[in-house]
Amino acid sequence: MDRGGGDPAAPDTRQRSCPSAPAAPGSLLLGVLGADGRIHNLRTAMTVDQDFLDAAGTNGPVEARMRFAGRCQTSGCSQWTGTRCGVIDRAMAHLEAARQSPVAADLPPCVIRGDCRWFAQAGPAACGTCSLIVTDTREMTAAE
Ligand code: SF4
Repeated sequence: MDRGGGDPAAPDTRQRSCPSAPAAPGSLLLGVLGADGRIHNLRTAMTVDQDFLDAAGTNGPVEARMRFAGRCQTSGCSQWTGTRCGVIDRAMAHLEAARQSPVAADLPPCVIRGDCRWFAQAGPAACGTCSLIVTDTREMTAAE
């Protein structure tokens, strides 16, 4: 799926937002991990600064408990396949949620949907899987 607005067969060259970016000053806080194991998206855009990250990081890596959005780096990112982001493709291939694509009225709130890389690639099915993706799983892996 290509939501770039042009020829659907053409490569998507529009600058997109990465919905699972490293936490850095200037990143947008996209959502917070809830007790249900899902990311709950904010309804209002919030840009984080170093003070926020320092405070939030006192309890471990912030990417294990929060998701941040930043500029999609395309070929500058190890997850880039050459034409698309591999993270959402792999997640959708493995998660049942992807097969239960939400209808538009049930899409979760999201401050970056207009230029989200994953939504541009996969549409609402990406949003159905998105809340199950944690950027940094080191803590969880270590706890298993
Ligand atoms: S996949 Fe959907 S919910 Fe997740 S960041 Fe992109 S637009 Fe937002």
